[in-house]
Amino acid sequence: MDQQAIDYEQLNERGQLRHLLKLDGLDAPVILNLLSRAQSYIRPLRHAPARDDCLAGRTVANLFFEASTRTRASFELAAKRMSADVLNLDVNTSSRIKGESILDTIFTLQSMQTDIFVVRDASAGIPQLIATRVEPHVSVLNAGESDVSHPTQGLLDLLTIRQYKRTFDGLVVAIIGDIAHSRVARSLTEGLRIVGNSEVRLISPPGLEPNPDYYPGTIMTTDIENAIVDSDVIVTLRIQRERIKEKSNLMTSHEYLKEYGLTEARLSRARPDAIVMHPGPMNRNVEIAGAVADGPQSVITQQVTNGLAVRMAILAAVSAGPDQV
Ligand code: ASP
Repeated sequence: MDQQAIDYEQLNERGQLRHLLKLDGLDAPVILNLLSRAQSYIRPLRHAPARDDCLAGRTVANLFFEASTRTRASFELAAKRMSADVLNLDVNTSSRIKGESILDTIFTLQSMQTDIFVVRDASAGIPQLIATRVEPHVSVLNAGESDVSHPTQGLLDLLTIRQYKRTFDGLVVAIIGDIAHSRVARSLTEGLRIVGNSEVRLISPPGLEPNPDYYPGTIMTTDIENAIVDSDVIVTLRIQRERIKEKSNLMTSHEYLKEYGLTEARLSRARPDAIVMHPGPMNRNVEIAGAVADGPQSVITQQVTNGLAVRMAILAAVSAGPDQV
């Protein structure tokens, strides 16, 4: 399937969001509307959470064929707070490990009137494959696809940046870590390219540099000390060990913190009001010093709050299609 066909498939014939497979191919108004809707679902922590009954009568199946804590919990809570029936497929007992193809599992659940599939998979192309085979009223949401795409993470990162920086223009965004294997970096840079004019600096240890073809218009470097200077937003990433076969060249945790970790000393080179982000799971004192993770510039817990709101907004958007009953 060519790229254009996949892009087109994300929207229905009325231009409404049907699937969310990646941010590339969406235009700025679609993304900004999702962010505004997500913002409307945010409540202070001690208040009752926002609820909406726009998914009443719909069924959401969460299919996580790769480990997940926050994304899975967040999609589940989002679907419940939108009044959907929610099915969480337990990967360890799923038909997939008994050899059934993923499409047969999807068709089975579709026959039980599942309307929205939330899919995480370690292989590239699975969400697109499912999206091209389901019935027209069914939506597919990509909850993390290999090292390729994690669009809901990209959106929650954009929402976080917008909350603290008010604009996407003129910002310096430094993403530090294992960019080569990061779907988080891919989706965030895709989103930033669509919504504004920011300078994206990709800072990775030697050997973990990304394929430049996936990151047009960015600055790529291994020089953390200089690249962090004057940044407005710093995103720290863990090493994706599960995606690296040859681990013998990787630095020890101690070496990593010293060479590429976000320490207080490095953070002081950024702008004084720079925000610090991390998608989780976070390895304290490896890619980020504990004091920075818990420090006043950290917005990591706000990212988690935003993730739930973003997933509610996406569920609302895909459930608004004209084909839905
Ligand atoms: N939680 C993010 C993801 O699913 C980041 C990570 O796993 O390191 O990609």
